[in-house]
Amino acid sequence: MKKNDRILALRKAAEAMARGDFAPDIPIGDDDIGNLGKSLKELSAYLQKQSERSQSLYKIMVECNLNLQLIDVLNHIYESFQEHLPYDRISLALLENDGSKLKLHWSRASYDKLELVTGLSIPVSDRSLHALIDLKQMQIIDDLSAHLQKHAKSRLAQAIAKEGIRSCLICPLIAAGKPIGFIFFSCRKKNSYQNLHKDLSLQIASQLAIIIEKTQLYKGIKLNKLLIAQKKSLEQRVTHDALTGLLNRPAIFDILHKQILRAKRGGFGIAVIMIDIDHFKSINDTYGHPTGDAVLCDIACRLMQSARSHEYIGRYGGEEFLAIISPYDQEGAIKVAERFRKAIASEEINTNQTLIPATISLGVAIATGEESLDEHLLLQRADEALYQAKHKGRNRVEVARTDR
Ligand code: GH3
Ligand code: MG
Ligand code: MG
Repeated sequence: MKKNDRILALRKAAEAMARGDFAPDIPIGDDDIGNLGKSLKELSAYLQKQSERSQSLYKIMVECNLNLQLIDVLNHIYESFQEHLPYDRISLALLENDGSKLKLHWSRASYDKLELVTGLSIPVSDRSLHALIDLKQMQIIDDLSAHLQKHAKSRLAQAIAKEGIRSCLICPLIAAGKPIGFIFFSCRKKNSYQNLHKDLSLQIASQLAIIIEKTQLYKGIKLNKLLIAQKKSLEQRVTHDALTGLLNRPAIFDILHKQILRAKRGGFGIAVIMIDIDHFKSINDTYGHPTGDAVLCDIACRLMQSARSHEYIGRYGGEEFLAIISPYDQEGAIKVAERFRKAIASEEINTNQTLIPATISLGVAIATGEESLDEHLLLQRADEALYQAKHKGRNRVEVARTDR
């Protein structure tokens, strides 16, 4: 090939490399131009490796953003960096108990018979580990046997040496400025790690630290959500009646107490409605207790559905309910009671294809003045009004005599 053609070929190769094509046709030889070709070939191989490395790192970043499991990312690291970093084993260890323990979280090796197995937890008494944590710096052990002579007590080093490991690169994982663990790259050959490996392992470690922080944060959020759900369900059980799902007696009493205080502060009225199912005993007697339960639930459900957001209904006991409406005047309270009455009487209750007619009687008591705003007095008067409703033929609303 002529000199000019060879120079042109080298120029084209350099242009191809600039475009990211790392396998261009590069003429080599023993003269100056040929040697330039050799150097270009080396440069091309180096650039290709660099490009693959950044692609692998980029993949870890993408996986990190996809919220992949930590184990998947670790396996991905093990499978992707063999070309760029020497290792026969990679391990991830995380600090626990405020940094006093180091737990082996994950490891993978090119050989069986691991001495250091996942789950193993060791106290961080090892001086060299302390130094690593304090300095937040990576460490290269070129010759593990020589290291062991200096640090004979290091359990980690002993175990890993038993596996035949001769050199290590240990990189701390730093999250929010604090060390959270280590990633260990280990090789069965001495002197495997050089300065050029530091940069890549640091980048891998920084990505890993982000993922671990994310996963732990995520676990924390999940646990928090679970606790909130459990708390809610516990609160529901404490304040609600198991059969009907309505507020239970202590809960509706608590509301009555608070609404009376509110009415006193605000200077407005409050209405209490005592509700009782008519001839419920005969429903039980005719259809059986389980059907009676179903009727009770259906009535509770209809009452709840017909109540507005400021109208509270609870199960007072047996087949009796209590509604609290605040603020309210007499006319409004009667309207509400009528709405409840119609919600039951308007349609028969359908249980297991059996239509059961049911009605309720209601006693309304209203308090507007400071004196009548008394729990016991209100309940007593509502009960008397209910008695009147029963006496006057049931399925009706009666109002207690005005304030006394
Ligand atoms: P009235 O119209 O005078 O209120 O007649 P009643 O039959 O409804 O009243 P009574 O007080 O004689 O009977 C109430 C019945 O309610 C008796 C009791 O067995 C029944 N009961 C109370 N709680 C429950 C319950 O949770 N489930 C069922 N199935 N029945 C209940
Ligand atoms: Mg009763
Ligand atoms: Mg009854």
